[in-house]
Amino acid sequence: MPTPSTLAWTDVDRRIWEEELEDFVPLTVFDAHTHLYLWDNNTDPHKADTPMGEQVGAKFPCSDWAAINACDATLLPDRRVHRLSFPYPFPVSCDFRGSNRFVLQETAADPSSAALMLVHPSMTEDDLETQISQGFLGFKPYRFYSATGDAVDCRITDFLPEHQIGVADRHSLIVMLHLSRRDAVADRQNLDDLVRLGSRYPRVQWVLAHCARSYSDWPIRRAMPVLRTLPNVWYDTSSVCESDAIQALLEGVGSERVMYGSDNLPVGAFRGKYVSFGYAWAYLSESNQSLDLLHCEAGMSFTLYEQLRAMRRAARRMGLAANQVEAIFSGNATRLIQSVRRG
Ligand SMILES: [Zn+2]
Repeated sequence: MPTPSTLAWTDVDRRIWEEELEDFVPLTVFDAHTHLYLWDNNTDPHKADTPMGEQVGAKFPCSDWAAINACDATLLPDRRVHRLSFPYPFPVSCDFRGSNRFVLQETAADPSSAALMLVHPSMTEDDLETQISQGFLGFKPYRFYSATGDAVDCRITDFLPEHQIGVADRHSLIVMLHLSRRDAVADRQNLDDLVRLGSRYPRVQWVLAHCARSYSDWPIRRAMPVLRTLPNVWYDTSSVCESDAIQALLEGVGSERVMYGSDNLPVGAFRGKYVSFGYAWAYLSESNQSLDLLHCEAGMSFTLYEQLRAMRRAARRMGLAANQVEAIFSGNATRLIQSVRRG
């Protein structure tokens, strides 16, 4: 079983790291998007038969601090990594209390790292107040838990109701937001909601995951005139593998609120790449395609390496200075965490 401790480089991985990434990734890294979880906290009785059962349950059933350190030791050799971590949002049925307890307990291993609490729209203000006092710096809502029952077309407040945003505002917390809807950040309703919620709850620090869920450049470019007006919105680059998307983000908002994230475990450690076509994007892996690859080296590398290559290409095209690259890899996230800790 390819657990993080047995994750190993192939010749393809070694070549990509040595030729493209070793000189790009700074020695200190703050990973703003990591999942700490136990597969046991997925309480769906049929979980073994789901696609997630094959991917997460069979391959990476435990993402604790040691596992994620082992993963980074292989993928980012000799880097010192701090993290903003939160549970894995298991669909159908999830032990929220157990998941949140686990992420807090594991994150305690590193005082520079921080934890976010997985929230369900049914949680009351009192539920949240009680749990955040244990040390969470914010919330991780997820579209799977939408009160509408529709994880695709739901709006932000369907899975993060306003009474919860009010708690985040009162304590100046982070909200790690994975946008829903087909056009994600280019969706008019999402943009209207971000503007309205941003002005109504001005102390919330929003992190829009996956370049605001823009896996190609058109959604982020289309949204940019609005995003540029929102001061408390940050972005992580996790699992975005197209340099055009990252470049569009950097061109639009600059480099000061863009943060490296890995989506580990498990996504960064999977072999494959997110690819876009038309107005769609999808995950291309070793097992979900039958491409004819006889004419070339057919080995796939880690999603994280494809993402880092995209970040490097974008940084080069933009002519980013070394200190700007360092800020994306650690300084920006450190600044965000410290400001939230200070309240
Ligand atoms: Zn994630």
